[in-house]
Amino acid sequence: MKLQLLPSTIENGKVTEKQHLSCFVIDDKVAIDAGSLAMSTNDFQKKQIRDVILTHAHIDHIAGLPLFIDDLFAHIAKPVEVFALEKVIKVLKDDIFNWDVYPDFSELENDNCVVLKYCPFEIGKPFHAGHLDVKAISVNHKVPSVGFIVSDGKTKFAISGDTAEMDVFWNTVNEETDLEALFVECAFPDNLNELAQISHHMTPSRLRRELEKFTNRNCPVYVINIKPMYRDEVVKELEHLAIKNLSILELGRVYEL
Ligand SMILES: [Zn+2]
Repeated sequence: MKLQLLPSTIENGKVTEKQHLSCFVIDDKVAIDAGSLAMSTNDFQKKQIRDVILTHAHIDHIAGLPLFIDDLFAHIAKPVEVFALEKVIKVLKDDIFNWDVYPDFSELENDNCVVLKYCPFEIGKPFHAGHLDVKAISVNHKVPSVGFIVSDGKTKFAISGDTAEMDVFWNTVNEETDLEALFVECAFPDNLNELAQISHHMTPSRLRRELEKFTNRNCPVYVINIKPMYRDEVVKELEHLAIKNLSILELGRVYEL
């Protein structure tokens, strides 16, 4: 299985390591979150991706979705299927695809089909998205949010999305003995602990305590969703903590899991 966190931030004409937006592409076919889905996918990925799974509705996770569907509008032969919690779909309908902010693509057809289809999922109930088997797990963010366990039948990984301390997520993930990777957020440095608490995000110290709940000691752990303006601090603090098997997920790199 191939996994890529798409880059999203450009400075002086060059892509940087900062991550303003969140969008993971699996096997060039399925996207988890859609932050930079329109802006950073290549032509091959644009041609293939018709399944988009959302952790939650915050703008850094959905910003590229309206533009992605817009780009594909004329040629698409199969709707873009958006998998999300019912409450997240309501936000998309009410606040994004509402004609004021952007057209309601779920009502618009090209010559072939409707271009956007909403596919609600329930927490804990497995569903298929493209070639993947997916299960949503509760996490602890400020708005309705989930993490996922994702499998292609051979390889399996878990991803937290945005979250603060969790229990259900770890209990569920710990039941999976064959995880190839865990992707977990760490948004803020330790000196912004209060802000992290208010906004339901992790800091390095809290992530270290949190990972003590993860019983699969040999599974590689990749840190994601670091707030771009604090990246250097967060990375430095994580390096200082020297947590076993932990590394920072590199933007743009294609990982073979
Ligand atoms: Zn968020």
